[in-house]
Amino acid sequence: MSTVRTYVPSGRFSGHALVTVPLLGILLGALLATAYAYITLYLPIVGAVTFLLTGGMGLLLGLGLSALLHRGKVRNRMVALALGLFVALVTFYVQWAVWSYALLRRDDVDVSFLALLLQPWALWDVINVVNQHGAWSLKGATPTGGVLWALWAVEGLLLVGLPTFLALAAVDTPYCEACESWCGQAKGVRVTDVPADGEATVLALAERDDVAALSALGEPHAGTPFVRWDLHACGCGETSTLCATRVTPTVDKQGKPGEETTVWLSHWLLQRSQASSLRAGLPRAASDEVVLSHG
Ligand SMILES: [Zn+2]
Repeated sequence: MSTVRTYVPSGRFSGHALVTVPLLGILLGALLATAYAYITLYLPIVGAVTFLLTGGMGLLLGLGLSALLHRGKVRNRMVALALGLFVALVTFYVQWAVWSYALLRRDDVDVSFLALLLQPWALWDVINVVNQHGAWSLKGATPTGGVLWALWAVEGLLLVGLPTFLALAAVDTPYCEACESWCGQAKGVRVTDVPADGEATVLALAERDDVAALSALGEPHAGTPFVRWDLHACGCGETSTLCATRVTPTVDKQGKPGEETTVWLSHWLLQRSQASSLRAGLPRAASDEVVLSHG
């Protein structure tokens, strides 16, 4: 078991987050859900594009939740999970109400949106009827019954799961209890060669709490895998963490360069002097490039 001293959220949160995150989160969710419901209903193409849309909707809500949780200074995983899941579930419900309403109106059924929204059982009946008859066709086939339920389940997993996951991940950003602010990130504060023992060497130097050992790893060779060290630091200098990621440069079929990444070390907690030595050791050109960005 690794004995690296790592950042652990304090578990604290501001009281107003319990009001602002659900309130503003549901407001954002309702706007996104309305746009999503109308686009998916009137979009002539069904298929991969729909799932990209679903993923995009989940991602946007997740990013919004993440920003709200940071604004509310939530450093508690259970609170972030509960707030994220609650907002995502309400948004998911609103999306069904808007979609069902828009579908019925398109078919000239006189129905009130509020009646659908405020009567879950009426909404459930509508969804069941739609499921029996099918909602759309793809290549001449109209999925109904079990197949359509399964597709809706995948959609639901993305719409609820993705924002909830991102809300939970927001708490992983280090927060400084001394200056009461989130740490900014300096990506690639060091780039080193991949040690022969790989992850084991990286974990061992973190266990020894030996930042100086980074320089012994050497410079990477162009085009070969390397280890990227990312620093998170607050304004007062009390809280700093270091992450290590193995990066493998790749080239796709179109010849576009990309990279594959594996996180080896997550938020190793540094002493004040260790963090400043890391920043002081930056080559001139690189230190000009590395700007602490919030996130
Ligand atoms: Zn601080």
